[in-house]
Amino acid sequence: METTLILLKPDCVKKGHCGDVLQRFEEAGFRIRGCKMMRLDQQVLREHYAHIAAKPFFPEVEEFMQSSPVIAIALEADGAVDKVRTLLGPTDSKKAEKGTIRGDYGVDVMVNVVHASDSQENAAIELKRFFRGDELFD
Ligand code: ADP
Repeated sequence: METTLILLKPDCVKKGHCGDVLQRFEEAGFRIRGCKMMRLDQQVLREHYAHIAAKPFFPEVEEFMQSSPVIAIALEADGAVDKVRTLLGPTDSKKAEKGTIRGDYGVDVMVNVVHASDSQENAAIELKRFFRGDELFD
């Protein structure tokens, strides 16, 4: 079993898609191990998005990710990391097929509903970034 980290982004929270998105994961067999709502400060965003921090679009991403609280969720399943990213579709919502979460609810490459860890190694790092040990349940 693998656990991965997702963030329901501000567009998902503000448009009221959290229930629908979470239902898709539950119906696909994921188990929720942790869930919390939080505002992301500049420090955590710079850490979380270190791989894009030098890109010209990063200030816009920072502003977007701070435009409302997000919901961090730890999801467990066999092959959770890849399974979540398949259900999401590609980063650019405009290129995502209908039936994927980004294809159905996303707007563009930035406003794309959900963040998900892209490897088991990053999942372990990101789970620690957003959850204390006692906030994850077996
Ligand atoms: P993913 O979130 O699919 O793993 P990345 O790690 O490449 O994708 O990018 C992190 C986030 O930065 C994306 O989810 C998206 O919100 C934003 N982003 C990525 N590329 C762009 C871009 N070209 N313009 C604006 N925002 C972007």
